[in-house]
Amino acid sequence: MAERLGAVKGMNDIVPPKSAVWEWFEAQVRELMHSYGYRNIRTPIVEYTPLFVRSIGEVTDIVEKEMYSFTDALNGEELTLRPENTAAVVRACIEHSLLYDGGKRLWYTGPMFRHERPQRGRYRQFHQVGAEALGFSGPDVDAELILMARQLWNRLGLAECVALEINCLGQPAERARHRTDLIAYLQGHADQLDDDARRRLHTNPLRVLDTKNPQMQSLVEQAPRLIDYLGEESLAHFNGVQDLLRAAGQPFRINPRLVRGLDYYNLTVFEWVTDRLGAQATVCAGGRYDGLIEQIGGKPAPACGWALGMERVIELIAETGRQPPEGAPQAYAVLSNPALMPRAMTVCEALRGTGVRVQLHVGGGSMKSQMKKADASGARWALVFGEQELESGAVGVKDLRAGDGAQQRVIALDPIESLAGALAETPPQDA
Ligand code: ATP
Ligand code: MG
Repeated sequence: MAERLGAVKGMNDIVPPKSAVWEWFEAQVRELMHSYGYRNIRTPIVEYTPLFVRSIGEVTDIVEKEMYSFTDALNGEELTLRPENTAAVVRACIEHSLLYDGGKRLWYTGPMFRHERPQRGRYRQFHQVGAEALGFSGPDVDAELILMARQLWNRLGLAECVALEINCLGQPAERARHRTDLIAYLQGHADQLDDDARRRLHTNPLRVLDTKNPQMQSLVEQAPRLIDYLGEESLAHFNGVQDLLRAAGQPFRINPRLVRGLDYYNLTVFEWVTDRLGAQATVCAGGRYDGLIEQIGGKPAPACGWALGMERVIELIAETGRQPPEGAPQAYAVLSNPALMPRAMTVCEALRGTGVRVQLHVGGGSMKSQMKKADASGARWALVFGEQELESGAVGVKDLRAGDGAQQRVIALDPIESLAGALAETPPQDA
């Protein structure tokens, strides 16, 4: 036997029956986005490396150690598998002048790639849904984006599992003043810093506050808080977001240590967190990135957005024990004789043309084994093709969910709509 090859480490196949949950989740997302007037955008999985280095920031985990970057062997170009999609959306908006006539609300979904240590909720290929509102300065659109995520949790039955944390990162000048004090504070406690913190001290001290190291918690809790350095305008923006959330009845916690792992954020940042997924607690994260469009070479315009980790949301759905509909066929067609296949296939095609979900048995076998398959398919109806019935222009229809004594009805094939109507019947409600 040939050596068996598996999938790449940290990259997962999504196979049935679990793929049904993904399909259901994606359908909910699409409806959600449409209900808010967000339009779909699709960008390539590969971008020029400098796009990510410039936008995410040179001294971030993603750019320092997580990117799948390579030189195109054919032309020497430096390329990267996208580790996130905001930069690419911004690039595409600039490239296609999407903002020429005002703001745009956009959404995307697809795989992202980061070279991380694989563990629960952390993979090397993972999937995100993202929403980006470009050209709007907020705080109204900030609140809209946050509430949109809430709406999704409601649809997915996850409202009880997640909580909202928000913070305000202010503007670059405010951050610079805080940074000076933060570095001085951390230097004053140099003996308590771990390797990561020491490395970040001068390059990205804000990220030190985001440490997961339990030994450093009390140190970072006492550190100067960025929120205390905010000027009037930043505070007004922050209060604006809070007022809108309160008006919408959305509880939140202000987390002064909430920073994001990407450099381009300012003002509002937020995370939806859960306590049900162990260390991988953040299911959805986002914020405002008013400087990014200009930084990537576009005409300056404000923007705000979020991305959620689909694997983590799927895990949460599993935690709730919820079983989304599998999309079983309405009918499963069986044949009393293999010679009837051409007729059966034609009828099934016609039924599908009217919108009926019908699975046709293939591969032969006894009537008994076919009926077993019909039962296991989850279909309500068995569509029984028999010589006699077909000769009189009809098929047998048997209710698979009505117990052993269920009678088989005979229904005419013409017009196909009446047969389709019979198969559309839902099970009788229990009294
Ligand atoms: P973390 O702190 O968990 O590493 P992050 O700050 O790197 O997250 P973002 O870049 O903000 O994450 O991505 C948005 C969301 O995408 C995260 O909140 C998370 O749900 C998901 N996500 C990020 N990295 C991964 C990964 N490697 N595997 C699965 N999901 C991920
Ligand atoms: Mg990360």
